[in-house]
This record gives sequence, structure tokens and C-alpha cells, in this order.
Amino acid sequence: MNRKLICIICPRGCQLTVSGEKDNLTVTGHACKRGQVYAIDECTHPVRTITSIVRVSNREDCMVSVKTATPVPKEAIPQVMAAIRGMTVQAPVKTGDILAENIFGSRIVATKDID
Ligand code: SF4
Repeated sequence: MNRKLICIICPRGCQLTVSGEKDNLTVTGHACKRGQVYAIDECTHPVRTITSIVRVSNREDCMVSVKTATPVPKEAIPQVMAAIRGMTVQAPVKTGDILAENIFGSRIVATKDID
């Protein structure tokens, strides 16, 4: 493997190169340890935190922003988005409220207050 990545962990955007085989990867170009961890994770089991919106059923034209509480496998993003699209919540909603459990090992939490 010889893969080039841009680190997405912070705005510096270091250009990373990952070489070697799955159990023995070497990362270059990182300015800190977080970039090294990101590069190896991205090449072995990539994950993402998903942000989206959910309809608030008892408010007119109202949506609440949500996110996964922890990153989910990248290949599960379509299924997670389908689960989120199928959700509705009732106000009031507070930031941090858990709106769904065990969505590919994560929770869906509100990131906005709706009174
Ligand atoms: S390697 Fe470190 S400094 Fe560079 S973009 Fe990633 S987190 Fe930021």
C-alpha cells in the first residue's frame, strides 16, 4: 500500500502518506500523533461522525440538528442516514438529548435546543 491522505482532524490539513501492509503501516507527513492515528484508522477501519437533521413533529416547519454520539463505520453511513431520515421527535428537545440508541453502535443525539 502507498496511499496519500489529507488529515481532517484539524485545519492544518497535513498531507499524509501511508505505506506498508495492513499490520505494519508507516505514516509520514503528520505533524502530530493524532494525524498518525487518523491515517492508520482510515486505512484499516475508517469511521465518521454523521451530522444531519430530524423533523420535530409537534412544531410547524421545524427540524432539530443531530449527530452520532460516536463515529460509525464509513460503510454504514447510508444505513445510518436512512435511520435518521425515518426519525421524528417531539419538542421540547435539549442539546445532548439521546434521540435513538444503538444505531450501528452509536446513539443519535440532538445538537440544538427546541423549546
Ligand atoms: S497531523 Fe496533526 S497537525 Fe496535521 S492536520 Fe492532522 S491533527 Fe492537524
